[in-house]
Amino acid sequence: SARYETHEHDVIIIGAGGAGLRAAIEASALGLDVGLICKSLLGKAHTVMAEGGVAAALGNVEPKDNWKVHFRDTMKGGRYLNQWRMAQLHAMEAPDRVNELEEWGALFDRTADGRILQRNFGGHKYPRLAHVGDRTGLEMIRTLQQHGIHTGMKVYMECTVTRLLTTPGSGGGSGAPGASGQEEGDAVAGAFGYWRESGRFVLFRAKAVVLATGGIGRAFQINSNSWECTGDGQALAYLAGAELMDMEFMQFHPTGMVWPPSVRGTLITEGVRGEGGTLRNKDQKRIMFDYIHPLYANETAPTEEEADRWLALSTSGKMDKNVRRTPDLLPRDIVARAIHAEVKAGRGSPHGGVFLDIATRRTAADIKRKLPAMYHQFKELGDVDITKEPMEVGPTAHYTMGGIRVDPETQQTRVRGLFAAGECAAGMHGANRLGGNSLSDLLVFGRIAGLHAGRHAKERSGLPSLDLGQIEDAAREALAPFERSSGPNPFALHEELKDAMQTYVGIIRTEEDLSEGLRRLEALRERAGTIRIDGNRHYNAGWHETIDMRNLLIVSEAMARAAVLRKESRGAHARDDFPDTDKEHFAKVNIVSRKHGDTMEVREVPLPPIPGEIKQVLEEE
Ligand code: FAD
Repeated sequence: SARYETHEHDVIIIGAGGAGLRAAIEASALGLDVGLICKSLLGKAHTVMAEGGVAAALGNVEPKDNWKVHFRDTMKGGRYLNQWRMAQLHAMEAPDRVNELEEWGALFDRTADGRILQRNFGGHKYPRLAHVGDRTGLEMIRTLQQHGIHTGMKVYMECTVTRLLTTPGSGGGSGAPGASGQEEGDAVAGAFGYWRESGRFVLFRAKAVVLATGGIGRAFQINSNSWECTGDGQALAYLAGAELMDMEFMQFHPTGMVWPPSVRGTLITEGVRGEGGTLRNKDQKRIMFDYIHPLYANETAPTEEEADRWLALSTSGKMDKNVRRTPDLLPRDIVARAIHAEVKAGRGSPHGGVFLDIATRRTAADIKRKLPAMYHQFKELGDVDITKEPMEVGPTAHYTMGGIRVDPETQQTRVRGLFAAGECAAGMHGANRLGGNSLSDLLVFGRIAGLHAGRHAKERSGLPSLDLGQIEDAAREALAPFERSSGPNPFALHEELKDAMQTYVGIIRTEEDLSEGLRRLEALRERAGTIRIDGNRHYNAGWHETIDMRNLLIVSEAMARAAVLRKESRGAHARDDFPDTDKEHFAKVNIVSRKHGDTMEVREVPLPPIPGEIKQVLEEE
């Protein structure tokens, strides 16, 4: 290891989005030496793009709100595949995390009497999203950074981790079941990576590692994600022996831009519908009344008249329990499929979406004040004035409910000392995430991961020993594309991957399509192993892309394999050949993948049993 620049810390955190920063703050508060690594610049993590808000049952707008209602909404939105304990911890702790953010200086929008204002969002029974206009993520990152930076952590920017390192000779795992029911495997010893600018390798040694690397949206042609979202953490964990779970559940957000083509997929916050926006087809018909899911029938307005009364009440901050919510605010999986169906039936807008109209419901001044980023986004990118005209919108790959399997109490993976939090971890959201529940997830589980990683490190006196063979393998793997005489172009392969995922593993799936998708992924994997890179290691974008491709192929394969296995439709996973939700078998299992030699082993694991008192909470209304 002396060959490479080496840094030693008690805890390293990989990822500087909301989850990574919150984890770093917590580990650092234990008096530990913390290193924070990110592949972009600090302050640029994908979390800055979050728009609509952070969900927490503060009860500021609707006093009836409390953690139990939030917990129920989250489990129902996730179609009961969530790890109940994570959903419970999340609902109970989110208010503290949001209040703490305010204490640290976050400037939320306010109610008339000066408390944190909360807005409506899909699947949340009450107005629950604390927000800063439509730029909530930016304020969250600014606050966490300003607070965290004073704790003295060391930050490594523009540094990509390509492999996790585990202790020598611990391969195969102890076989002992851990708290989450996963048997324990190897122990983590650090991470191997490179500086994006110089291409030089760098080694990190640590007693505990937290993965907080975010999502995988870049596996799809039409997506709302930043360039960073290439499934790195999921792949790093998988290659180190941890498990992936719920990978079949990819959230397609209903409202991405569809025009112009250069910005297709860019997100339009659900906050537009939260502020009164409605969805219409080309005949100007409000579409959502035809798509009310039976699970939500009791609480959803069946007529325009009732929906309009609800919208009028909610925008004036009043509620009436006899007036039900507009179906425009049904959970995302339902709305995305409704738009897909309208377009398929030939009732779409000129550019293959539907219309989202806020102009007829709110004044221009309101729109510019509540949704400033949306106003500018459409003005600048699409030459559309949303205070006067409707937007054209369609589904966009947005968020992965699946990810690294963790213990609900500690966020530890099957690899000892390896923790995961935020979008790269699984369990909290089940089959479908409610909007706003990610930013709160980052804060709640970022803190828990940082705390337990810190405790794990404190219990250990020295740094775990390294396996030199693993380090040499990691270096060889990274350099291999420079040594080949010819091979395919990594950017072209990435385009093919996105096309295969969009076409065969997309919003509506069948066994036949998924099998074709898997065939294409397999062929791509073989070709990716022959990529040749020209030039040297200095800021070589083709090389970075090649490394990303390995990760994207792993997460894509896990998604397609899990999607084949789940022979039902539930939440974000819709099978045309199995359109019903299966209450008997698939209601009771999560799907887990793990590396087994050179193949991916995919299997069902039973959901943890729900204790009686929690069942009661779920059944109360
Ligand atoms: P990220 O913020 O994605 O951060 C990942 C970090 O990991 C980055 O620092 C990156 O550089 C680093 N990294 C990745 N790979 C490596 C590697 N190999 N080596 C080193 N570093 C690496 N959710 C809500 O709850 N409310 C909202 O209003 C909302 N709005 C959204 C709007 C948009 C446009 C999008 C796309 C998402 C939105 N979401 C929202 C979802 C939410 O923003 C994300 O799920 C969340 O920000 C993910 O945070 P994270 O901390 O897990 O990861």
